[in-house]
Amino acid sequence: MKVTYLGHASFKVESDGKTVYVDPWLNGPTSPIKVNDVKKADVVLVTHDHADHGYQEAIEICKKTGAYFIAINELAIQARDEGVEKVHTLNIGGSVNVGGVDVTLVQAFHSCETGAPTGFIVKFPSDSFYHPGDTGLFATMELFGELYDIDAFFAPIGSYYTMSIKQAALATKLIKPKIVIPMHYNTFPAIEADPEKFRDAVSETAPETKVEILVPGLSKDLEF
Ligand code: ZN
Repeated sequence: MKVTYLGHASFKVESDGKTVYVDPWLNGPTSPIKVNDVKKADVVLVTHDHADHGYQEAIEICKKTGAYFIAINELAIQARDEGVEKVHTLNIGGSVNVGGVDVTLVQAFHSCETGAPTGFIVKFPSDSFYHPGDTGLFATMELFGELYDIDAFFAPIGSYYTMSIKQAALATKLIKPKIVIPMHYNTFPAIEADPEKFRDAVSETAPETKVEILVPGLSKDLEF
């Protein structure tokens, strides 16, 4: 699995020949690329409709690449109304397989305008990741770990709007991923956080899990 961090909560994930974008806030200050730079996408996932999670950019990417747009029912219907041809209107607990990529929508504890806030568990034939969206900690994360055997967990650590370092380290312990990548920090003053402190917290709380700190624009080939 090749993971490219696009800053904030935005990722490009490639595995088994498929390209998945999650929360592509490419108009944001931390993204190293713009929508124009996107050449290929198979699936675009949006966790909720807050502007810093890239709903508008996701629509543009789907229109130019023909990718599937997947989000909670109400948000996906809105995308279809805005002209995206291929959408999946999932709801909490539901899954869909798109060309060999299994996408499951799960709950998040946050707020939004349309539908409800969500996270995604994505299983490629070879490996898997969990992007929880913006959320606080919740105990069901342990069940996600049990059910889906998650390889990579993208953990919000910035606090204020989401989990803090302490909560994200405990979430990592519950989920038991092989690798955790911190996200959703240092974009704004309110969410300043030191990822090295997260590394230390995970080494205490979930020593089996490796912490990969990515800077925006950096791609990393992850081996599980
Ligand atoms: Zn949000």
